[in-house]
Amino acid sequence: MENPILSIVVPCFNEEGNLIPLITAIRETMEPLKLAYEIIIADDCSTDKSWEILQTLGAQDSRIRALRFEKNCGQSAALWAGVQAAKGQFIATLDADLQNDPKDLPKFLEALKQYDCVCGSRLENRRKGDNLVRQLSSKIANGVRNKITRETISDSACCYRVFKRECIGNLKFFKGMHRFLPTLFKIEGYSVAEIPVSHHARFTGKSHYGVWNRLFASSYDLFAVRWMQKRMFRYQVKDRANF
Ligand code: UDP
Ligand code: MG
Repeated sequence: MENPILSIVVPCFNEEGNLIPLITAIRETMEPLKLAYEIIIADDCSTDKSWEILQTLGAQDSRIRALRFEKNCGQSAALWAGVQAAKGQFIATLDADLQNDPKDLPKFLEALKQYDCVCGSRLENRRKGDNLVRQLSSKIANGVRNKITRETISDSACCYRVFKRECIGNLKFFKGMHRFLPTLFKIEGYSVAEIPVSHHARFTGKSHYGVWNRLFASSYDLFAVRWMQKRMFRYQVKDRANF
């Protein structure tokens, strides 16, 4: 592929203290790779100084592109808007708070040579960045999701992923879809793998989710995803005439 570009997409809601360290960390990892890249930050209508900081960062470096919602629409919507704006053949998504470490990007890119989508799993390192309650609620949520969708994904809500842009071509977007992206890609016929990623405590600022949200937010969507899995057309065209 000629001059591929990696689009790094980050949803952001009130992350004023994290944005500059995040951009610095992404640059430190990307510069030695000699791979063209852009960083797209989707500001989900932050009420702190995130947007001012993004404007300054964008004025200094045209590879940093930012958009801002007129009202808070949630992580999935921000992620989706960022992904839609991406110009690259490859798309990486990660959180703004440095819980995901940009240093893992080369590992994702290596694995992407064999798969259409590579998802991060925080399972091994979860305890380094999250307390026991968060670890447990995530374990339960993953267990239930896997049971209903007949999946074996260890960390389906981890939004640290790298995928080929064609994966998003036919997806239907909905609130909360970020928790189901690996399954939604598989429904479309794309190959998906998980790799372990580092996991750190939030650099600064507050998490936007509580235990109840983590446990129950996806229950409704879960059945819709299961329905999609079961009802998708699966056919092979055997012959063609006048095509
Ligand atoms: N986020 C967002 N809109 C929201 C809530 C969160 O764009 O309404 C972003 C947030 O800024 C972060 C990512 O989604 O980049 C994950 O959020 P958070 O770190 O709070 O989730 P946690 O790691 O606690 O599950
Ligand atoms: Mg976080």
